[in-house]
Amino acid sequence: MPVELNLAARSVAAVWHPCTQMQLLADAPPIALARGDGPWLYDTEGRRYLDAISSWWVNLFGHAHPSINAAIIDQLGRLEHALLAGCTHEPAVALAERLSAHTGGALGHCFFASDGASAVEIALKMSAHWWRNQGFPERCEFAYLEGGYHGETVGALSVTDVGLFRDAYGPLLRTAHRVPSPDARQAREGESAQAVALRAAATVAALFEAHGRRIAALIVEPLVQCAGGMAMHDPLYLRELRRLCDEHAVHLIADEIAVGFGRTGSFFACEQAGIWPDFMCLSKGLSAGYLPLSAVLCREAIYAGFLDSHVERGFLHSHSFTGNPLACRAALASLDLFDDLDVIEQNKSRSARLAHALAPLHDNPRVRHLRQRGMITAFDVLLDDPGTARQFAAAFHAAARAEELLLRPIGNTVYLMPPYVLDEPQIDWLAERTIAALRRTLND
Ligand SMILES: *Cc1c(COP(=O)(O)O)cnc(C)c1O
Repeated sequence: MPVELNLAARSVAAVWHPCTQMQLLADAPPIALARGDGPWLYDTEGRRYLDAISSWWVNLFGHAHPSINAAIIDQLGRLEHALLAGCTHEPAVALAERLSAHTGGALGHCFFASDGASAVEIALKMSAHWWRNQGFPERCEFAYLEGGYHGETVGALSVTDVGLFRDAYGPLLRTAHRVPSPDARQAREGESAQAVALRAAATVAALFEAHGRRIAALIVEPLVQCAGGMAMHDPLYLRELRRLCDEHAVHLIADEIAVGFGRTGSFFACEQAGIWPDFMCLSKGLSAGYLPLSAVLCREAIYAGFLDSHVERGFLHSHSFTGNPLACRAALASLDLFDDLDVIEQNKSRSARLAHALAPLHDNPRVRHLRQRGMITAFDVLLDDPGTARQFAAAFHAAARAEELLLRPIGNTVYLMPPYVLDEPQIDWLAERTIAALRRTLND
């Protein structure tokens, strides 16, 4: 008799999981999900898990949100998909208009794609092509930050600095200029986060002095370098970047794929620095985690640099699912929720409550750099052997599961990025269980 495998075992056999050593997965099988409801995910056995990382930072309003579901169902009855070359439709147009409005019109043109890495590729290509159109084809190099993450396609990986994702593919990548991170944790005794920001910005100035004429753009994750370990910096750094980019005519690309849509406490992270970039990449929370969708917003001067009677001077990036109407409707329904529920304001109390509930961690001698920026909260755990960070992350993930939490530390950095639907008792519960998971992991 053939043995019937459960869903997790079938998955291990047939599905090649992302960001996973499949050999280890047999011992720690994936959670076999049956359904989601608000912040909760339920497995096939009926166990629940609070999705405290918004399913890799995408799911802004929890799972199966009634109004987003209704918008997609409505759109399904009208137009599920059509090409966006030579055709257009209301969801794509309305979404482009509303995203632009969120930048006060500063970034008035919107190019759609389906995932974050593609948005980054598009911004890099657009920048270099713009310079070529202006008669400066030698401006085709890029600058990126130490610890930065911009996706894992070959172009995006070239400006990503996370060794685990990059090292094996090094020979495939373009060389680019790496500048130090403004991570506030690097503050020396008595040094402020602003001083760290200025120190990091000075190295950008030096790079631009030396190589500025060959650099098309600098790419940055504003305020929080997420995948690199939730490294936070002062908004002053972004103001300095804007100033230096203007001075040396280098494009500034803000990758708000993770930090956009209220994550850092403002709708876009750049708002906290009072600047706008030349390009802004959006994805993840854009469709509230429902469907793959990304966008690159750019300034008028960028757009105008492609207008010409020659097709080859137009921007060239063809993509089958660009502007998919279902995904755009999900995004529009999500933007409606921001307006109707006053989400940015409500989240201020949510993050304050979470900070308060996690305060006992300050007394834990193993906890370092408990930090928060809007709806991102993180802390580092001091390990006896820093070489065991990956084992710590796996052990913490398992301990969190036992506490009904879905959490995935990045090395020894534990972080929470919950959906914007938690009420006060749920926030307190999340904090208690996070602390309990830490206790379980450290056995104290
Ligand atoms: C996740 C992420 C990306 C890549 O997005 P994908 O949709 O996973 O390709 C790019 N930049 C940042 C800052 C991200 O967090």
